[in-house]
Amino acid sequence: MTKRTRPWGYGHPIDGAQPNWNLHPDTLAVRGGLARSGFNETGEALYLTSGFTYDSAEEAASAFREESEHHLYSRFSNPTVAMFEDRLAAIEGAEACFATGTGMSAMFTSVACLVKAGDRIVAAMSMFSSCFVILNEILPKWGVEIVLVDGNDEADWAKALDQPTAVVFIESPSNPLMQIVDIPMVSRLAHAAGATVIVDNVMASAVMQKPLQLGADVVMYSATKHIDGQGRVLGGAILGTAEYIKTKVKPFARHTGQSMSAFNAWVLLKSLETMSMRVERMNQSALKIAEFLSTQSAVARVSYPLLPSHPGYELAKKQMTGGGSTVGIELAGGQAAAFEFLNRLLVIDISNNLGDSKSLITHPASTTHHRVGPLVREQMGISDSLVRLSVGLESVDDLIIDLTQALAKR
Ligand SMILES: *Cc1c(COP(=O)(O)O)cnc(C)c1O
Repeated sequence: MTKRTRPWGYGHPIDGAQPNWNLHPDTLAVRGGLARSGFNETGEALYLTSGFTYDSAEEAASAFREESEHHLYSRFSNPTVAMFEDRLAAIEGAEACFATGTGMSAMFTSVACLVKAGDRIVAAMSMFSSCFVILNEILPKWGVEIVLVDGNDEADWAKALDQPTAVVFIESPSNPLMQIVDIPMVSRLAHAAGATVIVDNVMASAVMQKPLQLGADVVMYSATKHIDGQGRVLGGAILGTAEYIKTKVKPFARHTGQSMSAFNAWVLLKSLETMSMRVERMNQSALKIAEFLSTQSAVARVSYPLLPSHPGYELAKKQMTGGGSTVGIELAGGQAAAFEFLNRLLVIDISNNLGDSKSLITHPASTTHHRVGPLVREQMGISDSLVRLSVGLESVDDLIIDLTQALAKR
């Protein structure tokens, strides 16, 4: 039997004496959700099992009627995945979490479980390209109306939200330009229109931004990014009220099969323990690099929320405790200059992932945002001379030397 020792998770029975004060997220990152088996292992157990057994037919029937707490099948829930969900919920300060196979599965599920034909979704234009494809191509085929707004324009939001709306979707900061959306302002307008506000918080991570405290209803993550942050596994998560997870997300996800594998959950549980250390270090290095790049003549523009030149600077200081680990760099000289810069780097790898311990750089127009086409890229502000640098955990001195030599005229 699994001993339920999840003192700081949510919705689970509590055994024995527990801390009676509010634990810091760093403590929750190490201890939240812990459910030790009868062996009292230190590290979290990996339950690689697709199914579960019952002591009697009556017990099985009672479990399926949800009258007893019993895992039924790992597409629905799994003890290792549950530990990951409880731990992330504790860090986020959310009532409940549902873990998914990928970040895109989290995004799709969080939105699709709320809409039906005839409903309306309003979203900030600037977003990850696969999210854009779901909102602009897939859901409209099912009769859902989508309205895109300039995320920075309050009047545009007000106009779009002057009628009943099911969902408002925001990515802030956005990938790759780090555009900042005013989450409290949009949440107020959205709630007046009856909408559920979903924030893709991948770029900030739970360490740097807490959208639920800013007025949003739902947060989603690609756990592939800063949560794993070590380039190993894919994963995703949806966080919100217990009611939303229970009555909207789970019924949709269980049957459509969005679940996270137990192995990935086990890897991600350990990753959560070090997430805040990693993200804080990446943020410090990213700020230094953004400041350094701003002084370089080969660089036309640097997009980083904590640079005073960034249009979202004031908002970022209010909403976030750090600027994120991603820097947008506009090269002087178009795509040729961008490609040459990437090809000359010796430490930083060319790769389209982000939030990794290894610094990674990509040219969004020809890779991550290739699919959306030139018109949408122009509307999103993604030019051919833009590159996106995800700052990792290497020495920032080495990264600056690498960037310097790659930018040098020769
Ligand atoms: C990567 C990413 C996703 C998708 O996550 P996957 O784990 O790759 O499916 C969604 N939103 C943002 C902002 C991302 O960067």
